[in-house]
Amino acid sequence: MEHQLKIYNSLSREKELFVPLNPPFVGMYSCGPTVYNEVHLGNLRTFTTFDVVFRYLMHIGYKVRYVRNITDAGHLTNDAGEGVDRIADAAKLEQLEPMEVVQKYTNSFHEVCAIFNLLPPSIEPTATGHIVEQIEMVKQIMKNGYAYESNNSIYFDVRKYMEKYKYGELSGRNVDDLLEGTRDLDGQEEKKNQADFAIWKSVAPNHLQRWVSPWGEGIPGWHLECSAMGTKYLGKQFDIHGGGMDLKFPHHECEIAQSVGADGVTPVRIWMHANMLTVNGDKMSKSKGNSFLPRELFNGTHSLLEKAYAPMAVRFFMLQAHYRSTLDFTNEALQAAEKGFARIMNAYKVLQELVYVNDAAKKSDAEITEANKLCKEIYERMDDDFNTPEAVAVLFEMAKKINSYKEGLISVSTLDEETFNKLKSTFTIFIKDILAIDKEDKKDDNTTEGLMELILELRKDVRAKKDFAASDKIRDQLLKVGIQVKDGKEGTSWTKN
Ligand code: AMP
Ligand code: ZN
Repeated sequence: MEHQLKIYNSLSREKELFVPLNPPFVGMYSCGPTVYNEVHLGNLRTFTTFDVVFRYLMHIGYKVRYVRNITDAGHLTNDAGEGVDRIADAAKLEQLEPMEVVQKYTNSFHEVCAIFNLLPPSIEPTATGHIVEQIEMVKQIMKNGYAYESNNSIYFDVRKYMEKYKYGELSGRNVDDLLEGTRDLDGQEEKKNQADFAIWKSVAPNHLQRWVSPWGEGIPGWHLECSAMGTKYLGKQFDIHGGGMDLKFPHHECEIAQSVGADGVTPVRIWMHANMLTVNGDKMSKSKGNSFLPRELFNGTHSLLEKAYAPMAVRFFMLQAHYRSTLDFTNEALQAAEKGFARIMNAYKVLQELVYVNDAAKKSDAEITEANKLCKEIYERMDDDFNTPEAVAVLFEMAKKINSYKEGLISVSTLDEETFNKLKSTFTIFIKDILAIDKEDKKDDNTTEGLMELILELRKDVRAKKDFAASDKIRDQLLKVGIQVKDGKEGTSWTKN
């Protein structure tokens, strides 16, 4: 199928026909988590958005290199290079090495990603693993005259840059205001202009994370890693860069300036920004105290949650909103999504069991046309800037059809076999591969059940032959993989830990 995929480009503020720089390859970068605490549901919404983009691009035939970084180098939280280093703070608080903090939360991030059915990216580079590349980039920017040294820190010279290039285009900020703005912020005296930002920041000798550079010991500026790693793995110019809306300014604006300052090339063709998950209209964020962790969601322990919710129902809830719209979290909305999710998954189950019966007398052109139309429409929705809520709406239409085949309201024989197979494969592909909301591990459970039945049958045979050594061996080995076998009066039963 030919796809006319259109993607909204935050830079041009228009939906653009997606034409990769080097088809069939697509280079895509998205900003990953800062691993100083656990990701909350808001972060996960953004990662889920780019997971669906990644999956869809692959599904329509592109060979995608998806780079999502791990921010494991502490940054000072404001552009003057002042403020807190969140990784160092967490290390002090938890009395751990910074790299222990980083490892702990990287592991937990990976676990959450797996639970939410997010595919691992093609490359997951870390900031600390690319200090050399970042220092090289600073040198290059300095060599080109767009950065200056001040007290062993290096600042990007926005005014100088603007003599040749535009700054502020992505976010629509009026940079003249920034340039003329006040200079009374802490650490401001090191900078020539308020709009300048640190690309390398000198730190005190007792700072927990620090690296040797030509300018003394310091840490990279907080926008630099994405520029350096994006360039390293995807080239000086690549197709798609994503992240949450809140990263547009200053993070992505500074990324553009750094790459252009170093290489003279606009780094990204299409900027994609995912909108925020909100709670009662407020952005979900840890500092506001309105965030909850995936774990809290599954066991329903957060005070904002009326009950526990299954991960795939939550993923479905997220996909029922378009990524460029805000999504407000409420228990009612999530419970409505849960019901819808159950309906879709039920139809999916029905579909697996539905058998096509050919009956020429029952064939209906209208039914065939309608089923084909749905199969086409669902792709058209996705091709329209990954419109998952509308794709889900088509899935509901399909589910209605599937149920009426089952209930005999419409005979499955109204379709021809080809159309039936197409409906089945399209529905399945969307559930499993594109929206990827099928992770109840039901099949695994069935497999375990089947295998256990077989193993216990064999164990019964060896016991009948009074080979108790073999019988005990089976029991002990099963225990090692977390399965406990109990022999009782009623026969043998088993439980899984
Ligand atoms: P951070 O670890 O803070 O850099 O955030 C990781 C990603 O989550 C970034 O792409 C942020 O834009 C995104 N993000 C943070 N808060 C939210 C939210 N409430 N809704 C959606 N995305 C968010
Ligand atoms: Zn980034």
